[in-house]
Amino acid sequence: MAAGWGGRCNVCEKMDKGAPENVTLLSVTFHSPTPAVFLDRDGTLMEEVDYCRDPARVSLFAGVREALGRLKEAGFFTVIVSNQSGIGRGRITMQEYEAVHARLLELIGEELIDAAYFCPDKPGDESLRRKPAPGMLLEAAREHALDLSRSWMIGDKAIDMQCGRNAGVQPILVETGYGANEDASGAEFVAKDFATAADFILKQCHVR
Ligand SMILES: [Mg+2]
Repeated sequence: MAAGWGGRCNVCEKMDKGAPENVTLLSVTFHSPTPAVFLDRDGTLMEEVDYCRDPARVSLFAGVREALGRLKEAGFFTVIVSNQSGIGRGRITMQEYEAVHARLLELIGEELIDAAYFCPDKPGDESLRRKPAPGMLLEAAREHALDLSRSWMIGDKAIDMQCGRNAGVQPILVETGYGANEDASGAEFVAKDFATAADFILKQCHVR
């Protein structure tokens, strides 16, 4: 029995009793990949600030923390995926990006964000990662065993919707940031803000 588990799972019981035909089936279920919610950063979790390089300018939208808490409690893996062309353009240094990210985690609560990816490429660069390309989502899925078919993307731009579709996840457009003026045709749902988007996801899915 695995130490520290505090209980015995059905797989172990059956292994002890020797029922190999059941063990195969059960172990597949046991290791099933996790659904994720991919999160755009600027204009979705926090106020849009043109090339934000100052941690003092990080301002979370109301209800973001609580909504992330509800998603985590439901069993979703939460991943920030952010285009940061300011780095590629030389307008933001890596240190400035990291300071802004650290402030964001401080405001949200580190335990509510499982992973974060950013792309420094500029528009027009040949990039597999800059949204709407799906590279960051595919990378996260590979590194964290995520189930894209049960995953979602929340963002404030049409490129977030395209990125979600390109990766095979369901996209939701929020009307914060640039969202109110973006083409919503690629979105599965349009929400007034992040908290409403999270609640829409929770109504559709029972992860656990
Ligand atoms: Mg955005």
